[in-house]
Amino acid sequence: MKIFNTIDEMQQFSRQQRRDGKTIGVVPTMGYLHAGHLSLVETAKNHADLIVVTIFVNPTQFAPNEDLESYPRDFARDCQLCETHGVTAIFAPEPEEMYAADSTTWVKEEELSQGLCAKSRPEHFRGVTTVVAKLFNAVLPDIAVFGQKDAQQAAVICRMVRDLNFPVKIIISPLIREPDGLAMSSRNRYLSDHERQQALSISQSLTRAKHNLSAVSRPDSSENIVEDIRTTIEAAGGIIDYIEIIDNETLGAVSDKTAEILIAVAAFFGKTRLLDNILVKNN
Ligand code: AMP
Repeated sequence: MKIFNTIDEMQQFSRQQRRDGKTIGVVPTMGYLHAGHLSLVETAKNHADLIVVTIFVNPTQFAPNEDLESYPRDFARDCQLCETHGVTAIFAPEPEEMYAADSTTWVKEEELSQGLCAKSRPEHFRGVTTVVAKLFNAVLPDIAVFGQKDAQQAAVICRMVRDLNFPVKIIISPLIREPDGLAMSSRNRYLSDHERQQALSISQSLTRAKHNLSAVSRPDSSENIVEDIRTTIEAAGGIIDYIEIIDNETLGAVSDKTAEILIAVAAFFGKTRLLDNILVKNN
């Protein structure tokens, strides 16, 4: 497995592979890999000859009061996991390699990047779209895999790729959970044992919400379902950031055109903000 730290080396490798007729799949991550990330690698293998995992804790998507410094990192372990999962190369640049000190250019999606997570993280998606565009320019992939775990991010990136004509096919891979239902996340390590137990209320309330949404068709059902999620999480000690029942693609109101309904939650347990969601087919 190769490890590249500079954009130049990464591009040279990708150009050579493309000349040799190989297709390249990229899985962008911030490292501290878990089975959720590795499921994206497996998905990518079904769509491309070679897999590049990028490991970059992107400073521009963190606000000054957030966990950029303390974000968990274990590069040696990440390399081992990638190697055992048949990854061809890791692209792991330093922040100085990715951002010129006097950089002034941003990629900004202006509709789907509002609401949900953006209410508490207003500049977050500008950082995400900018870094993903830059990672695409470094890796030169044919396809890129992102997780449904970050449902808003997935929608924003699909929109960016469509609007800016990136020659990259985006594949969204399902959300992977721990055996007890907790959505896998690098940030789960911040949770105390007690908080981790309490946090199971998120996935439990979402499973019930999916069942209830499938079972009823009354116009007021969404409100009742939101209320049930809220009470369940608050009773367990969580603080709700948002609960939304929306169209998974447009992130707007559910309509006749909605293919999949997204039930999305962000909630704090202690200082840790957790994201989770579940999809329901709209038929
Ligand atoms: P991160 O390292 O948290 O930035 O995540 C990198 C990619 O992995 C993103 O596309 C995430 O949506 C995806 N991801 C993170 N956790 C999970 C999970 N539990 N299941 C599926 N994909 C995930």
